Amino acid sequence: MAPSQTPGADGSLQGAAAIGDGRGAFVIEPVVVRAPQAGEVRVRLTAAGLCHTDHASLRWPGPLVLGHEGAGVVESVGPGVAATHPQLQAGQPVLLNWAIPCGRCPQCQRGRGSLCERTHSIDAKLGSSAPTPGHTLWRGQAVERSFKLGTFAEHTLVRAEALTCGPSNCRRATPAPWAAA
Ligand SMILES: [Zn+2]
Ligand SMILES: [Zn+2]
Repeated sequence: MAPSQTPGADGSLQGAAAIGDGRGAFVIEPVVVRAPQAGEVRVRLTAAGLCHTDHASLRWPGPLVLGHEGAGVVESVGPGVAATHPQLQAGQPVLLNWAIPCGRCPQCQRGRGSLCERTHSIDAKLGSSAPTPGHTLWRGQAVERSFKLGTFAEHTLVRAEALTCGPSNCRRATPAPWAAA
């Protein structure tokens, strides 16, 4: 993939992504990824895993940015992230977790996000794992991402809770298999 572009006047970034059409096919076209808002982090992806679920997702309701396993580096963070997740600074290697902890349930508030009681994949109504609407635009229209991640892209925008820090010495992260499921 090409290196990260310079953000536009509104802070958005444009880059390529694989978009499923919901009928078994996909295209690789530019998407616009908005600047992170409160609690959000924009990631420049450096690696992505490919699993059978991605094949199935070609027939999920589209259009959909494909991919739910990935690794990359923090590109920028939204307001409030520095207070709640101080380790998420620009350049920090990260893994993207498709079972995004809600950050609000009792387990999350005890710092046990791995035991979250309401990740979006369990109950989308309860979780807070989705970025605000309109985070990603394709052909000028808001588009969803697989598992609220969409890792088959140059950039993506996720909740801070979706990220796990990798070792600081793996800036060219290739550990997507760690995030596989
Ligand atoms: Zn939780
Ligand atoms: Zn998978």
